[in-house]
Amino acid sequence: MAPFAAGPRQSAVHPLVFHAQPSTIVFPTNQPPMKVTKEFVFDAAHYLPNYEGKCERLHGHTWKLHVTVNAPVETGSGLAFDFVQLKNLAMERVVNRLDHQVVNDVVSNPSAEMIALWVWHQLRDLPLFEIKVWETPTSFATCASADYAAYAPQTAPAEVKTREEHIRAGRE
Ligand SMILES: [Zn+2]
Repeated sequence: MAPFAAGPRQSAVHPLVFHAQPSTIVFPTNQPPMKVTKEFVFDAAHYLPNYEGKCERLHGHTWKLHVTVNAPVETGSGLAFDFVQLKNLAMERVVNRLDHQVVNDVVSNPSAEMIALWVWHQLRDLPLFEIKVWETPTSFATCASADYAAYAPQTAPAEVKTREEHIRAGRE
């Protein structure tokens, strides 16, 4: 019998769901980490100066970006990472800087791979798990934590702020 077929209301609800009261659900205090992702879409131009082919000429894309963090679920809030905070930080440090810009003015040699590394660097004070950058709907680059550790840029761009600096600046 299909669970949501027509019939008496009670028979359409799983008995565990029907009888459960939210206050009786007890979660373990030691929550596992969970991945939380925010998706962004923006338009920007770029060119690849060291590439032989049509991508060496200035052209535009509708880029897609996934920012994924990995953090333990906090029992009280039920959150691993606040979507709003993730959105605000990524918008300020990444999307607003690239949207309707020539990416080469911000990131040198801006392939999808180099942009993914730059995004990681911009957000490196977050518990990042993965950065994905789509140059077209079927072409994307992924930067994971081990990849970034291997890249290990030593010099931070001057404009990058830590989360604490960001919060402090917002209060001034
Ligand atoms: Zn391109």
